[in-house]
Amino acid sequence: MYILLMGPPGAGKGTQAANLVNKFVIPHISTGDMFRAAVKEGTELGKQAKACMDAGKLVPDEITIGIVRQRLAKPDCAKGFILDGFPRTVEQADALDKILAELQIKLTRVVDISVPSALLIERAVGRRICKQCGATYHVRFNPTQKDGICDVCGGETYQRADDSEATMKNRLSVYEAQTKPLIDYYQNAGVYTAVDGSQAIDKVFNDVINCLQG
Ligand code: ADP
Ligand code: AMP
Repeated sequence: MYILLMGPPGAGKGTQAANLVNKFVIPHISTGDMFRAAVKEGTELGKQAKACMDAGKLVPDEITIGIVRQRLAKPDCAKGFILDGFPRTVEQADALDKILAELQIKLTRVVDISVPSALLIERAVGRRICKQCGATYHVRFNPTQKDGICDVCGGETYQRADDSEATMKNRLSVYEAQTKPLIDYYQNAGVYTAVDGSQAIDKVFNDVINCLQG
């Protein structure tokens, strides 16, 4: 399964990716997670990415394409992967086509988790992530059993710096201008399916599985 998860920020890509990892045992490749890890480690990449992320802007294409090219070439991607948050521009999509052609891989499906923008700010602002294992929660829609403590590993949860209402507004306008055109891109490639991401998490997962197996 070579799965590409699309959708606006806060749509539920990471949440569904975690479910897909459990089901198919293939790596979850999230460019957002890769940039956050680099920021935490204080690497040169992290320094370059941080200002863009804090402002809700995209990290430049050449940087982003470079890290994805390196990651997809690793042996654990040969039998499948779940790409989340990449591509986000037409230039990135063109680059991905080339990378996959070199690796002789064809995308199984592009699954677009479609959510009306009115819901997205509440989803992002209420998002909490485990510092230790990265599990994703929501204060209202998917709360931890104990306040601030991860159900999976007991780690502390935190709120992403870019999950404020103001930064989300920028991220949503960046999505509209730069990422939404990829719907046509993948529709034209014949690999696109949209699922209704406004449903409950398990219902969305059901629809994702149906479109992967259909
Ligand atoms: P993305 O990776 O697309 O930015 P996430 O998977 O991190 O989105 O989800 C954003 C927030 O919304 C998280 O707090 C998550 O728990 C919550 N969430 C995800 N899917 C749903 C859903 N179907 N219904 C309600 N809340 C959801
Ligand atoms: P995400 O975790 O997917 O919400 O991404 C968080 C932030 O990381 C984004 O707002 C961007 O600043 C950056 N980012 C993640 N993926 C990409 C990408 N494909 N292209 C450019 N920037 C990205």
